Amino acid sequence: MTDKTKRRSWAEPFKIKMVELLKMTTKEERLRAIKEAGYNTFLLRSDDVYIDLLTDSGTSAMSDRQWAGMMLGDEAYAGSRNFYHLEEAVGRYYGYRYVVPTHQGRGAEHIISRILIRQGDFVPGNMYFTTTRLHQELAGGTFVDVIIDEAHDPTNQHLFKGNIDIAKLDALLDKVGSERIPYISVATAVNMAGGQPISVQNLREVNEWAQKHGILIIHDATRVAENAYFVKRREPGFENASIASIVKEICSLTDGCTMSAKKDAMVNIGGFLGVNDDEIYDEARNMVVVYEGLHTYGGMAGRDMEAVAIGISESVDYEHIKARVGQVEYLGNKLLEAGVPIVEPIGGHAVFLDAKRFLPHVPQDQFPAQAIAAQLYVEAGVRSMERGVVSAGRNPETGDHRYPKLELVRLTIPRRVYTQAHMDVTAEAVIELYENREKIKGLRMIYEPKYLRFFQARFEVMG
Ligand SMILES: *Cc1c(COP(=O)(O)O)cnc(C)c1O
Repeated sequence: MTDKTKRRSWAEPFKIKMVELLKMTTKEERLRAIKEAGYNTFLLRSDDVYIDLLTDSGTSAMSDRQWAGMMLGDEAYAGSRNFYHLEEAVGRYYGYRYVVPTHQGRGAEHIISRILIRQGDFVPGNMYFTTTRLHQELAGGTFVDVIIDEAHDPTNQHLFKGNIDIAKLDALLDKVGSERIPYISVATAVNMAGGQPISVQNLREVNEWAQKHGILIIHDATRVAENAYFVKRREPGFENASIASIVKEICSLTDGCTMSAKKDAMVNIGGFLGVNDDEIYDEARNMVVVYEGLHTYGGMAGRDMEAVAIGISESVDYEHIKARVGQVEYLGNKLLEAGVPIVEPIGGHAVFLDAKRFLPHVPQDQFPAQAIAAQLYVEAGVRSMERGVVSAGRNPETGDHRYPKLELVRLTIPRRVYTQAHMDVTAEAVIELYENREKIKGLRMIYEPKYLRFFQARFEVMG
């Protein structure tokens, strides 16, 4: 986006009250560490990492208000006061009638998938997410990608690459019928597409379509505030709307949500399921007792629920979200200026390197994104992660690798943790790696876990 007003510097809208010292390592130490980790950045010890951009999940800095909330934890087994604060925050900011706390996002995904999906069902969604799709599959469903084609093209400049293609929904409906489609899985600020937003206009159309066919919409609300920020900046009619009002409107167009509070809500652990329907709530409340904990804590301590409640209110603050997304754009723009191929437009939570253009000499079955992530760590101590063929896993029917169009390395920015200077150091490291890219070799997978293999797979460098 080009800003017509004169460019002015901006700074983080917070000051630092407590610091955590970083450890510097030598290149020799990092070479040893990555080899021991099987060239998988998930298997590194965090003590061996300098700037940690593995994920923004549970890695954000809580505010003084959140930490104060931790001291107000009511650790009663049942009916904790903090649960009611959480319930109130979910109602006020997202508008869902009922909330079922879970230990993190996938706990909510598990429960809603088991309640709504029958064997042989199809679940359309705006691009898959690893844990979300796995829970849909384990419940007997088949995920069907209905995101617009533009989302699969890392160079396409579409401003709402999270949008759903209604024609793809129609095609699925024609093929399988509405009774085989329990819900549409709609993510905001679509992670796997590069943190790309869905427009409110598109969501209204999806909502109309879903109502017409009696199909529910379940919202992956993990990054709804980031999505709302893009709506405010890019979608006509929302220029003067508050982030909070856009978040509320997005949620109102859906029937329920799964939430990883470790992202937008800036806590280290936590999540919830939000629903409006009495019967679904009743089932969820039954099921949470089996898998997570009583329905008034669901795997969270009282203090954690308090921190989530406070974090939700902070997530919709305009200055906060502007700086959060602004920091991601700052890093992305530095890479763009140096000619490094990244996914555009720059997303809300991470900068994604386009490994297919970065390493054209490494074929996709030699895991180019995995190789870049490993080498970036070795060169600079910066930890990133693969979002390509390793993350996509295998097709459960054929057993073959799924080859996604997007072969990406994700540099994920934790919220309120690093400064612009850390972004400068990261940018310089990536640019230098890009200049020496022909030295990077492909990898061979030597250990492959059955589920979510990217977390624990091991590799060795091709000879
Ligand atoms: C992180 C994430 C999840 C899963 O949440 P966890 O808290 O890690 O279990 C689901 N969807 C999206 C989009 C996410 O980013």
